[in-house]
Amino acid sequence: MEPFTNDRLQLPRNMIENSMFEEEPDVVDLAKEPCLHPLEPDEVEYEPRGSRLLVRGLGEHELDEDEEDYESSAKLLGMSFMNRSSGLRNSAASYRQSPDGACSIPSARTMLVCAFVIAVAISVIMVIYLLPKCTFTKEGCHQKNQSMRLIQPFATNGKLFPWAQIRLPTAIKPLRYELTLHPNLTSMTFKGSVTISIQALQVTWNVILHSTDHNISKVTFMSAVLSQEKPVEVLEYPSHEQIAIVAPEALLEGHNYTLKIEYSANISSSYYGFYGISYTDESHEKKYFAATQFEPLAARSAFPCFDEPAFKAAFVIRITRDEQHTALSNMPKKSSVLVEDGLVQDEFYESVKMSTYLVAFIVGEMKNLSQDVNGTLVSIYAVPEKIEQVQHALETTVKLLEFYQKYFEIQYPIKKLDLVAIPDLEAGAMENWGLITFREETLLYDNNTSSVADRKLVTKIIAHELAHQWFGNLVTMQWWNDLWLNEGFATFMEYFSLGKIFKELSSYEDFLDARFKTMKKDSLNSSHPISSSSVQSSAQIEEMFDSLSYFKGASLLLMLKTFLGEDVFQHVVILYLHNHSFASIQSDDLWDSFNEVTNPALDVKKMMKTWTLQKGVPLVTVQRTKTGVLVQQESFFPNMNPEMQPSGASYLWHIPLSYIIERKNDSQSQSVMLLDKKSDAINLTEEVEWVKFNVDMSGYYIVNYGAENWDALIKQLKTNPYVLSDRDRASLINNIFELAGIGKLSLHMAFDLLDYLGNENYTAPITEALFQTDLIYNLLEKLGHTDLTSRLVSRVFKLLQNQIQRQTWTDEGTPSMRELRSVLLEFACAHSLANCSTAAMKLFDSWMASNGTLSLPTDVMTTVFKVGAKTEKGWLFLLNVYNTLGSEAEKNKILEALASSDDVRKLHWLMKSSLEGAIIRTQKLPFIIRTAGRRFPGHLLAWDFVKENWNKLVQKFHLGSYTIQSIVAGSTHLFSTKAHLSEVRAFFENESEATFRLRCVQEALEVIQLNMQWMEKNLYTLTLWL
Ligand SMILES: [Zn+2]
Repeated sequence: MEPFTNDRLQLPRNMIENSMFEEEPDVVDLAKEPCLHPLEPDEVEYEPRGSRLLVRGLGEHELDEDEEDYESSAKLLGMSFMNRSSGLRNSAASYRQSPDGACSIPSARTMLVCAFVIAVAISVIMVIYLLPKCTFTKEGCHQKNQSMRLIQPFATNGKLFPWAQIRLPTAIKPLRYELTLHPNLTSMTFKGSVTISIQALQVTWNVILHSTDHNISKVTFMSAVLSQEKPVEVLEYPSHEQIAIVAPEALLEGHNYTLKIEYSANISSSYYGFYGISYTDESHEKKYFAATQFEPLAARSAFPCFDEPAFKAAFVIRITRDEQHTALSNMPKKSSVLVEDGLVQDEFYESVKMSTYLVAFIVGEMKNLSQDVNGTLVSIYAVPEKIEQVQHALETTVKLLEFYQKYFEIQYPIKKLDLVAIPDLEAGAMENWGLITFREETLLYDNNTSSVADRKLVTKIIAHELAHQWFGNLVTMQWWNDLWLNEGFATFMEYFSLGKIFKELSSYEDFLDARFKTMKKDSLNSSHPISSSSVQSSAQIEEMFDSLSYFKGASLLLMLKTFLGEDVFQHVVILYLHNHSFASIQSDDLWDSFNEVTNPALDVKKMMKTWTLQKGVPLVTVQRTKTGVLVQQESFFPNMNPEMQPSGASYLWHIPLSYIIERKNDSQSQSVMLLDKKSDAINLTEEVEWVKFNVDMSGYYIVNYGAENWDALIKQLKTNPYVLSDRDRASLINNIFELAGIGKLSLHMAFDLLDYLGNENYTAPITEALFQTDLIYNLLEKLGHTDLTSRLVSRVFKLLQNQIQRQTWTDEGTPSMRELRSVLLEFACAHSLANCSTAAMKLFDSWMASNGTLSLPTDVMTTVFKVGAKTEKGWLFLLNVYNTLGSEAEKNKILEALASSDDVRKLHWLMKSSLEGAIIRTQKLPFIIRTAGRRFPGHLLAWDFVKENWNKLVQKFHLGSYTIQSIVAGSTHLFSTKAHLSEVRAFFENESEATFRLRCVQEALEVIQLNMQWMEKNLYTLTLWL
């Protein structure tokens, strides 16, 4: 899945230091630490294998009495026990239990257990007697209830539910689903039936699977022994979204069975599951559309299933639809049959073996454009009036599909590949196998209104989703804790493939920018290891969809590829995909594939575990010595409080250190070494002018130098910056500002380095410089330091004025130059510099006079609209045009302009309308909140809006989801006062404990604290010298 897009790197700023929300773990060198995943409390819990509890509830079957006694006793004691064997007990011992649960004919063991129970009960009474009263607070009772619920889940009909864990038991494996659906798009309901072929891997009495919000009308069970289908009972346990099918006979190991479930449900009005969309077409007619979004946990709301990624199975899907609609699913269509007047049933071929979250189907009016690629029919679908915008996507997909098949040496396994532009989708795109869904703006390209940034966006997202057809679909993570294996790889391949076949787009600049922002987020205390052991609940799973899984994962792969070399990397990727095709894997399986190739020279597993199992970013400090340099590593930790610093033993990474030296005779050389201890010395055989570590910023670490080397680097930038690559120049800017932020260097020195910018013509360094200074500007502005902000803008403008004045209001130049133009003119117009606003207003006036038909240069369109939206007339005109446009690319530019207004009433109206979803789609709400929240007039309003509508937001987007993360960060990240810190904390604390514990909430609080401390530290000195 691709979380949306423009949003995806709007990470909060950690302007500096401090966080105190959780104790840093005592981390040691993980490569040397064998116990990498300590047992989680959740893993130690009651796991009623087989059907014992259910059986007792039903009073039907028989159990071994000792075993039953053991369970009763344990339950009485509130004990947890796990993984008890579930062998079939062939009714050897009679089960005799009186209604109160006492043992009627106690055995010796039972008596022993009972005695033990009495002893413990007495102890418990004494302890309770001695405990202080506060033990019986609301919280205390609550916790007690929770643990009871875990131990004795009750189904909706009051009977005991035979399974207490969030994860499904592994006793049953699904083999094949036959899913038949009949959606009614006007009543927003559907009828379904699913026939699931299963295999028992262990003996069991019941089948536990996922199902949520279904009205189940009939369940039948069939086995080889039963000659015909037999109706069976179903128990529902909504809090775990599970049902239990009570089998009429024991399911025997190795035997196959069939379940058939008939049900009905509502088509969802959220963005999850099988959800409905309405839109108005060109002739203002209301149209209905239905699509699916199952990742991570919503397949269960469309049909009862074993909804965990490791339960792969084959799917046969049949959909009944209106005649005028098209139905699509993962596989090609096998047949279409007229079932009654105006109704057609489509059947799709049996699918490849795949996870439930990749199943997809769509019903609606669509048109398509197709092309054959070596036996695979590639089609781009859109609603009929947008079909002329699909050409770019088709050409791009064809090239990428050919590239990936060749690079991975594995053919794409389905005969067709559909990419569909969905009128309303929360994510940016979703990689359903054979049926990839996109937002319209991430797939459609309009020649007149799409900018170079839009072109890059569409190309990147197609590249990402196509890479998933191998990484994620063919080879899937076993569980969501290893989501980075899907998303990190897809993100890495997105940039890698663009670098190979769309080199002119310079997408490396975006990847570089992504790495800077990811490191900033990862240095916070609220960060997490990308491969985490404690992912269980739905909110925890949703939270894994953050920029760390995507971009830290991708950054680590880039670092590894650079270290090993491209050939070795490709060789391993091919090996890994071949070894695990159609299977499920863990991080270790990837590292084992590397080690197959790199051992004994390098233990990649040992090295990479230091990166995936630890959170945070290394800081490498380089000191020049007489004979070379001394390098040391520590954690780059913004917290300046000495008590909160990680201890000396904490955090050790195995860092591939690359460096480039400039000799006294102006020649250069590059080297690389593995730093796998705290410090090391590097001998340099000759005297050097300077040394620059982390060449091209391909490593995931920040570098600090002694004053002498910084001075030499700054001098080099001022005399001839082009001796260093643009990536290196951008990384020097990034690193020096990050270091100044945490007090390792002075801000004065960082601004001194920026003074070379007058000679800088490349996009990446200028973008990074503007990003860093904009952070400072935004914070100062929100505190009302208008004198300082204008001094800051003047200083930056002085450096960049030549480049700004060189810009034209056109779309000329390479993609990189065009993006630079957008950035520079946006800066100039935002601060009313160099007559920028006058030129933009002139263009806007002509555009408005032409009633919006004049073609504006696409790369500066947003800037022109923003200037135009400053007047009442301009804003209203833009809104009017917004509602009539067919190009999402243009609509986005207008929406950004509308949301940049200084009029809070307009901003409030925008947010409210977007939440309602009629005029502005709800998928746009996070973007509006973030855009409004960045600017002075809107930043308090955005937060108020989030507070007032929190429940609706969570209902629509789900707690912990990427969208919620984006909304929380976007509405709080510019606060820097104690009052705001208390307010934000109090709000989330009052919501619920689960909400307060969300990582994005902890991050928001941490960011506000860091902003406060940045102000305390730097405001005064900034006043003196800026
Ligand atoms: Zn993805």
